[in-house]
Amino acid sequence: MIPIAKPLIEQDEIDNVVSVLKSGQLAQGRWVEEFENEFAKYIGVEYAIAVVNGTVALDLALKALNIKAGDEVIVPAFTFIATANTALFQGAKPIFADIDERTFNLDPESVKERITPKTKAIIPVHLFGQAADIQAFVDITEDHRIALVEDCAQAHGARYKGKRAGGFGIGTFSFYGTKNMTTGEGGMITTNNETIAKRLRLLRNHGQSEKYLHTELGYNYRMTNIAAAIGICQLKKLDRWNGERRKNAKYLDGKLKDIRGLTVPYVAPHNEHVYHQYVVKLGKDRDKIKEELATKGVGTAVHYPIPLNKQPVYSKEKTECPVSERMATQVLSLPVHPAVTEEQIVQVAKAVEEVLIR
Ligand SMILES: *Cc1c(COP(=O)(O)O)cnc(C)c1O
Repeated sequence: MIPIAKPLIEQDEIDNVVSVLKSGQLAQGRWVEEFENEFAKYIGVEYAIAVVNGTVALDLALKALNIKAGDEVIVPAFTFIATANTALFQGAKPIFADIDERTFNLDPESVKERITPKTKAIIPVHLFGQAADIQAFVDITEDHRIALVEDCAQAHGARYKGKRAGGFGIGTFSFYGTKNMTTGEGGMITTNNETIAKRLRLLRNHGQSEKYLHTELGYNYRMTNIAAAIGICQLKKLDRWNGERRKNAKYLDGKLKDIRGLTVPYVAPHNEHVYHQYVVKLGKDRDKIKEELATKGVGTAVHYPIPLNKQPVYSKEKTECPVSERMATQVLSLPVHPAVTEEQIVQVAKAVEEVLIR
């Protein structure tokens, strides 16, 4: 079976982890600092703050912005649950907005309809590896003097008009095993704001400004040197791996674009997509097609089967997001990650053709 995701761990990651182990400096130290510096440079921002995972990156971003009970945070209904939970962690209310059905990304018009005097932040997600309509959100957040947090958990290296995702607002990244680059578990926050960066470093480490001087309530959300040692190596290969994702996606585009009942991913003209997922839309029978592809050795996944406004944890939520609800029944992700070989991508295209053209 061709898996839908697979982490690539090579000799350089292994050697770098072994050097951490031999150093005895296992917790946050010089490897974390090196990873932060390299990551900030790569994204094109002043500061990068490493943390234990992408969920914590979102959580700390909202804490650094002083989001609190009574505040509202606008998030897309069509994303991974962590994007919305981060508002609840602060006692704030996530407000679900709908998406653009071509890009699957947050729709600025839907966001505008949901802004109230309580709105304190907007969190567009660069879903599946394609930047959201970020200039629109920069404009909206500036007009309303509210915060912009970009959930970049699926968009390491993605560009909007040449500029990397994570460089527009406060960027939050995940290095979970299935993402475009991994540290096992891990996360990063990017910003150009020195005050926010300082605050994030305090919150990550017990609110400690000098040894055993605690100026505010903080946490232990530090990344280990072991994880950072993996991340340093992965970052060096990210552009090459994203290139392989794009090459696989282009091949599938060519083979699948004329099949009736299937829509290949749309890429907005100003975007450089990094295909965290290659997501096609199927008119109907999505679940049956998924099963048939599995019998042909093609692993697929549904991102995501239930929009967040319909999740049990948000069952009291009454917002309607019709596009998100419709897309949840139509989307199917096909494997394009860099561990997919040339033979395998041919097999993926053939299998889809066989299942859909009958
Ligand atoms: C993976 C992911 C997260 C959470 O990251 P973790 O590292 O798994 O905590 C948040 N948002 C989105 C959109 C994600 O895909």
